[in-house]
Amino acid sequence: MSKIIIHGGFFSESSTNNETKVAKQQALLRIVRDSYNYLQNHSAVETVVHATSLLEDDALFNAGIGSQIQSDGKIRMSASLMDSTTMKMSGVINIEEVKNPIQVAEVLMNVDDRILSGEGATDFARKNGFEKFSTEIPQRRKEYEAKLASTGTGTVGCVALDNEGRIAVATSTGGKGFEIVGRVSDSATVAGNYCNEFCGVSLTGVGEDIVSGAVAAKIVTRVTDGFSLEQAFEKTFAELKPFDGFAGAIAIDKNGNIFHQDSHPSMVFASFDGENEEVFN
Ligand code: ASP
Repeated sequence: MSKIIIHGGFFSESSTNNETKVAKQQALLRIVRDSYNYLQNHSAVETVVHATSLLEDDALFNAGIGSQIQSDGKIRMSASLMDSTTMKMSGVINIEEVKNPIQVAEVLMNVDDRILSGEGATDFARKNGFEKFSTEIPQRRKEYEAKLASTGTGTVGCVALDNEGRIAVATSTGGKGFEIVGRVSDSATVAGNYCNEFCGVSLTGVGEDIVSGAVAAKIVTRVTDGFSLEQAFEKTFAELKPFDGFAGAIAIDKNGNIFHQDSHPSMVFASFDGENEEVFN
């Protein structure tokens, strides 16, 4: 049995821009199908890197190419990877000019210092063969110059369960746009991206809310302690309510159950298990 679910972040104007919404749904379906095929002869951890790289390469999403621009006019991206078989998490925080931040996280899996930030992350990427690559697209620059919210972007993520029962998770983001330089996204923390042998979870939404709610780590812990996925989501999302936390999550447990939930319904996601395909928003 193998399962996969991916997300393309929040879709802020689904009611006003149907064209972008349909384009995102089609892109997610194409990528989830391609990645499901990949999963048939690759491990869960290889597959989440593969799927997340495809999402980073698609300018429709706010990760890799198409990332949002920070308050000083520069793009800084964050991504992380976790493998349930080793319980290792690796990631980059605020890395610059790299086409696929998730692939830098993949290299970091085999290094003692597994989560790097800022210049250190960018230097590490260059030393490991990642060429300088501008991920800026004209649309994001236009939005930045007009000081407008980005249109239709969103963090990306993937959870996979492979045929040997291994779970892995990856999340990648261009951040929330116009952030203060040095701001840390949830995407390379255990709040935004976490798994173990029982369950894997990837988040999108307002990074500060996701960190306050320790969302991914809490859901995984609850499933480990015997909650169903649904119960774990319900309790964890209820805990976001007192501060109106804005978050959306996707998950798979060790039995192949797939689940997703968002606090303000507008997340785009797609899942596929070889037979049943679901795309939503
Ligand atoms: N979680 C990301 C962040 O706050 C943004 C998003 O998911 O769209 O950096």
